[in-house]
Amino acid sequence: MHCSEFRTAISARVDGEELPPEVSGAALDAHLLSCSACRDWGRRARRLKTLAAGLRPV
Ligand SMILES: [Zn+2]
Repeated sequence: MHCSEFRTAISARVDGEELPPEVSGAALDAHLLSCSACRDWGRRARRLKTLAAGLRPV
């Protein structure tokens, strides 16, 4: 499985959505442990989401 598939799952997790059926939570966690590029990507995705939440009009 490629990083791009895991990143789709990471972004779903960040958004609080269900993971794509082809990626289990355990597989995603295992990939994050072994892939620093996806760890960094996930960190950025969370930061962007936090920023976006702060900018959202009330
Ligand atoms: Zn990766």
